Amino acid sequence: MSATVAIIGGGWAGLACAVECVQRGLRPTVFEAAPQVGGRARTVEFDGLRLDNGQHILIGAYHDTLRAMRHVGADPDVLLRRQPLALRYSDGFELRARSGSRAALAIAFLCCRSLGWHDRLAALRMMRAIKHTPDADETVAAMLVRTGQTGNTVRHLWAPLCIAALNTEVAQASARVFACVLRESLNGAAGDADLLLPQADLGQLFPEPAAAWLAARGHAPQRGTRVRSVRAQGDGFTLDTGDAQPCFDRVVFATSPHHLPALLRDLPALEAIARRVAALGYEPITTVYAAFDAHTRLPAAMTGFAAGLPHWVFDRGALGGPQGLTASVISAVAALPDGGREQSERAVLHALRTHHPVLGEPLWVRTITERRATFRCTPGRTSIGQPDDARIAIAGDYLLDDYPATIEAAVRSGTAAAARIAGR
Ligand SMILES: Cc1cc2nc3c(=O)[nH]c(=O)nc-3n(C[C@H](O)[C@H](O)[C@H](O)COP(=O)(O)OP(=O)(O)OC[C@H]3O[C@@H](n4cnc5c(N)ncnc54)[C@H](O)[C@@H]3O)c2cc1C
Repeated sequence: MSATVAIIGGGWAGLACAVECVQRGLRPTVFEAAPQVGGRARTVEFDGLRLDNGQHILIGAYHDTLRAMRHVGADPDVLLRRQPLALRYSDGFELRARSGSRAALAIAFLCCRSLGWHDRLAALRMMRAIKHTPDADETVAAMLVRTGQTGNTVRHLWAPLCIAALNTEVAQASARVFACVLRESLNGAAGDADLLLPQADLGQLFPEPAAAWLAARGHAPQRGTRVRSVRAQGDGFTLDTGDAQPCFDRVVFATSPHHLPALLRDLPALEAIARRVAALGYEPITTVYAAFDAHTRLPAAMTGFAAGLPHWVFDRGALGGPQGLTASVISAVAALPDGGREQSERAVLHALRTHHPVLGEPLWVRTITERRATFRCTPGRTSIGQPDDARIAIAGDYLLDDYPATIEAAVRSGTAAAARIAGR
């Protein structure tokens, strides 16, 4: 009989791990505390309307995510709108690449009318700098100074890209991770830099098709089941889920990092891992949804705001969502203003009306703040590692040393966790 595997956490990492376990002949059970799967990239229902907990942008370099989607029957060509990298800001700045190839990006920098010659040369210097991983990590701010970036390239290219990719301000963000992300996308294969904008809600991209795929094979995720503790017992592990004590041969911890240390308390051999995870810092993301009249259309599906808040605004109606629905994103430290939700909503509505003066009063406004949206991606982050016991694996978006907290990191780590406990 093949080994049974408890996977604690039904986010993208846990689900990717479960799918890979089935392919490797193991028998997984996903335990998810929430009523829905998807974790930090999930869809929730408010008054009959399906809303994502936050806007997610994927890029062409998310190869493992795209493969995982296809595997469970979620077609990325239908669910995601693929477009060459385009940055468009409310102040008129615009950068467009014809395709996702490296040459096309260099041409985009050289031909970008919003960049002067000093800016273009600075951008090309940055492209050269990211080809090599620096031995010693530094902040992105230090790297921008070292490579002679201009105010314009910082404001419209590197600072927004850093916030979007690492959810950490340039003054604190790791240059090593930023360079790695830019290298994988801007210097990667053709199409890797393409933006993939969800045209369906997040649940439909992967979590729900993955759960259905697992259920069809007799491994339906157990939603609404919080695992309270895990103990080693005999040759396996006993889980405490409150009303039951199921036993498994192997266990994968695929929770969000801040939930992990408490879950490891009865596994003393994992104390060092628990300590490293407990040391992680976090950054929030706030999303302000504002619904306007159904005829409302913003000038672009995605617009950046280089000064002030929000950082990005999405026209969900232009992306297959309800017409007139806008989603404004405020990242990192700015996402939790002193004035709270009201201040975020005021700032967003003011920016929207300034950018698009014909906007009327919103029909409704709803704000979702994820306080621990991602780990804070600072220089010199300690590697979390894996337990010595090969029957246990840790999965999640915080496991890849040179990667920020992303869907791709979650999926890659989930797949790797399955390979680890399968012994291959
Ligand atoms: C607002 C927002 C915007 C983002 N934007 C982007 C983006 O544009 N691009 C991108 O690539 N990434 C983005 N991210 C990051 C991305 O969502 C995460 O990196 C990814 O979803 C993490 O997946 P995970 O499976 O590692 O962890 P999680 O999604 O945190 O999943 C862990 C799961 O474990 C469950 N759990 C915890 N404890 C227990 C327990 N004891 N028992 C059972 N279940 C438990 C939780 O309920 C959760 O469902 C964004 C995140 C947020 C919040």
